[in-house]
Amino acid sequence: MPHVLAIHAHPDDIEILAAGTVALLTRHGWTAEIITMAPGDCGTADRSAMEISVIRRKEATNSAAVIGARYRCMEERDLRIYHNDRTQEKVTEAIRASSPDIVITGSPQDYMSDHEYTSLLVRNACFNAPIKNYDTHAENQAPTSKSIPTLYYADPIEGINLFGEPIIPHIYVDITETLEIKRKMLACHESQRNWLRAHHGVDEYLLAMERAAKKRGEEVGLQFAEGFRQHRGHGFPKKDLLKEVLGDLVRSPK
Ligand SMILES: [Zn+2]
Repeated sequence: MPHVLAIHAHPDDIEILAAGTVALLTRHGWTAEIITMAPGDCGTADRSAMEISVIRRKEATNSAAVIGARYRCMEERDLRIYHNDRTQEKVTEAIRASSPDIVITGSPQDYMSDHEYTSLLVRNACFNAPIKNYDTHAENQAPTSKSIPTLYYADPIEGINLFGEPIIPHIYVDITETLEIKRKMLACHESQRNWLRAHHGVDEYLLAMERAAKKRGEEVGLQFAEGFRQHRGHGFPKKDLLKEVLGDLVRSPK
């Protein structure tokens, strides 16, 4: 079966930015896997890093289970995700082990560097995975990948770069039919939802996600959408595989 790997920095990033599309792929017979670089160990006002990590790994596992996906954490730490040899080797090993047809990761431009470094690490890992002499120094190394997977970058948070300038997607995926699943997945992250609810007095966690999906939808005449940019640089597959699989659910910008 074709396989999609969604890999982002923290538990809930994929749910906020790409889960509607991942859910659509599973409806089209794909298997799915969600990986986060860190366990969300800074996402708390009152628990230790260890306590909140245990909670958030469980929340992410529950969320992935909603679409029958596997979840695992690369065990980097929040606010300490960097590009270095050790981390690059780990992410490359993860790509080889997962053997995905499509990889979805964070935007190269976003509001914080954990997201941007994750994007760079995943981009390099996709490129490195088929290169035989790239040694990941893992104990039980996965086979070298046959080819570079098709790589998409999800929207940055709020659809803007660090200057507040809008990032325009290459494609919009109609997630109207999977919005409810996306909402259910995001709601699994109760620790974050409750934290925000305590601050705002409203269910801002789910509302912010829905506003973003509605905004992307409105840009192309849909009810709800997620935006993506495809990595089209040298060596990477340039065919829009999401379009090929999802057909009319994928729209171009107006
Ligand atoms: Zn994040």
